[in-house]
Amino acid sequence: MFTISNGIILKGQDLVPVKENIVIDDGKIIEIGKEASEGKIIDVDGAVVCPSFINGHMHIGDSIIKDEGYGLSLSEMVKPPHGVKHVALSNASDDDLIDAMRKSMKEMVESGTTHFIDYREGGLHGVKLLKKASADLPIKPIILGRDDSFYGDDPDLTKVKTAIRKLLKIADGIAPSGFGEITPEVAKLIVEECNKQGKISSIHVAESESNQIESLNEDRMSEIGKGVDAGFSQLVHLTNPKGNDLDSVASSNQNVVVCPRANATLNVGVAPLNRMLDFGIRPLIGTDNVMLNSPNMLRELEFTLKLMSVYYRKYINPKELLKMATTNVCGLNINNVIQKNSIDVGNSAECIIFKSFSKNPYLNIINRSETKNILYIINKKFSI
Ligand SMILES: [Zn+2]
Repeated sequence: MFTISNGIILKGQDLVPVKENIVIDDGKIIEIGKEASEGKIIDVDGAVVCPSFINGHMHIGDSIIKDEGYGLSLSEMVKPPHGVKHVALSNASDDDLIDAMRKSMKEMVESGTTHFIDYREGGLHGVKLLKKASADLPIKPIILGRDDSFYGDDPDLTKVKTAIRKLLKIADGIAPSGFGEITPEVAKLIVEECNKQGKISSIHVAESESNQIESLNEDRMSEIGKGVDAGFSQLVHLTNPKGNDLDSVASSNQNVVVCPRANATLNVGVAPLNRMLDFGIRPLIGTDNVMLNSPNMLRELEFTLKLMSVYYRKYINPKELLKMATTNVCGLNINNVIQKNSIDVGNSAECIIFKSFSKNPYLNIINRSETKNILYIINKKFSI
């Protein structure tokens, strides 16, 4: 048992700053209060206590080819099966992949991330590799798998169904790349099977303008429209929405993840975060492919804060931005799979404690903090 004393806690799902102590016992928050004090006292001297980060979208497998192919287009880089990424993945040995994924996960832990949602390539074997790579690390991957049987114009639906069921025995969900690679029947099967088992179904949508236009021209429906229609529990990117796309996402019960640095690296646009917030969408934020960007959420947050301001000429609320990396996941219909908590009594203790630089606790983190300014990281696998 120990007490984090004298800190500014970003409490609850709304990250309300309070100057109170937190008592933690056996990985759980058992008391929060001005006078709370039990066990070893850790005086953090005005530091900011924030929920640990969840990286909402990643491909950790491509840690093996950091910065390769820089300057190529989205499809040249990441489209299966011939993109730079997929060629590299299929030529990599298991040991090399595990080694690269572990290095990335260590970097993530050091920079305050305790959970990440990964689109894992390589079928069942790929899911097993990430599980093996992460087994002894203090970070929780939420693994969404895929299988080669999903692809093509005329896939064998029996094989697809079998592959989905096998994947779901060990994975937290299923995530094909995009609508350009799968048929509507395969999308339907993925969503159905995931829903039956209470798991996550996810897909990239509207990452590029050209994919959106192609989708509208060929099927009279945008990629976002298709994602909403198919009922995927989580839609990633939404960088180039069209028509009433954001309205329809807001009215659905779907989770959204945005990846501003990855979009910038691939020059596909700027996700309209301001408009999403106006529509009541409360997205997660992710760093996407490790080949494109470091998986450090502090870098993602500062980049996004400034980018939104310069691009839309309108400030984005720093608290709302920080919630995208922390507590927005708490209210989602997929949180029973993810199990990530806010700082509240009864919840497991998953916090980052940042050195104090300014009186604004949100900007203290987004605008001022680097990995080296993290005093402590607390989660279930950690103890002080
Ligand atoms: Zn992605």
